[in-house]
Amino acid sequence: MEKISMNDIRKRNYSDVYRLIYQERRISKSRIAASLEMSLPTVTQHLSTLEREGLVEKQGQMASGIGRRAAAYTIRPKARVSVGVEILPDHITAVVLNLYGEVIGKKEVSLTFSEGDAYFAALHTIICELLQSSNAPIDVVLGAGIGMQGLVSEDGQRMLYGKILNCTGLTIRPLSERLSCPVRFIHDAECAALMELWRTPELTDIIYLSLGIHLGGAVIMRGQIGRGRTGRTGTVEHMTLVEGGRPCYCGKLGCMECYCSVDALLEEGEHLSDFFLLLRQGALRQTRRWSEFLDYLAMALNNLHMVLDCTIVLGGHIAPYLIQQDIDTLFSKLQDRTAFPEEENFIRIGAQENNAVASGAAIPFIRTFLKTI
Ligand SMILES: [Zn+2]
Repeated sequence: MEKISMNDIRKRNYSDVYRLIYQERRISKSRIAASLEMSLPTVTQHLSTLEREGLVEKQGQMASGIGRRAAAYTIRPKARVSVGVEILPDHITAVVLNLYGEVIGKKEVSLTFSEGDAYFAALHTIICELLQSSNAPIDVVLGAGIGMQGLVSEDGQRMLYGKILNCTGLTIRPLSERLSCPVRFIHDAECAALMELWRTPELTDIIYLSLGIHLGGAVIMRGQIGRGRTGRTGTVEHMTLVEGGRPCYCGKLGCMECYCSVDALLEEGEHLSDFFLLLRQGALRQTRRWSEFLDYLAMALNNLHMVLDCTIVLGGHIAPYLIQQDIDTLFSKLQDRTAFPEEENFIRIGAQENNAVASGAAIPFIRTFLKTI
């Protein structure tokens, strides 16, 4: 049997006190003691340590009908922060999140991606300026996640596949050498899925599809992102949907990307907002194109659902425009096609999160902090 020392118990109690305050947001000392079945002196001791470390503070008093009101303890949400960045071919969105995953600073910059050192120097400047304007010194930064369109090595230090940005093999070293906090690449679809999970923690098993300019996918099982043997789990965008079909950027034909992405839906120069405006007004061309889009999506979702019988969440740039009627149509198309019709619609629209990729790239550092404190 594993031996548990006094030190282990003290550490666990300390973590439990912090996590309870985090979860409850405001709580009195006596409630902490009662909830965790700890003695008041033990709670007092851990609270003093947490206050001394700047992680917890007293903030006003708890509401009470009778007698003296107890001091309210809260965590200091900005005691640690995390940085998330979304890299697009000609644009950067960077955010700073506090420990509750709330955006406390944001910066958007037009910057053309390149693998050169100058690009990473510019990215480093953007992050430093953002931290400064968010009043977050570098020593409270848990880490910086860089959301990339492509597949990433397990340790997040290298791009395994980056055809959209043409950056296969790129390492994060030029940035990690400049920033004195942990830095890693994260696949953009994984970032969006992580954000979805953060906002809706009860969704422990899902297939997440990011219907963005490009299509991306992620699989979450038991609350964890599935990576698979070589990190390719969830890359549904390159599933063949049409034999000998439209050409994909991966070099193959008929991939799901070519039928179920924003790029596939829109015509040259068309904007998503205009497309959906005309669609909702009943315009014939848009209606026809949308129906075809949903046909292909239904085919893909049915295939995916055969492999993994779980909720499918649709996120990405299209998500804010989706209405329940679209989901119902999609589900009915899927029902016509499937060998196993189901009564309950298992397709849902993702949380309407702005900057889902940038924010999601910051989430793993916060999760690790909360898990290991
Ligand atoms: Zn492809």
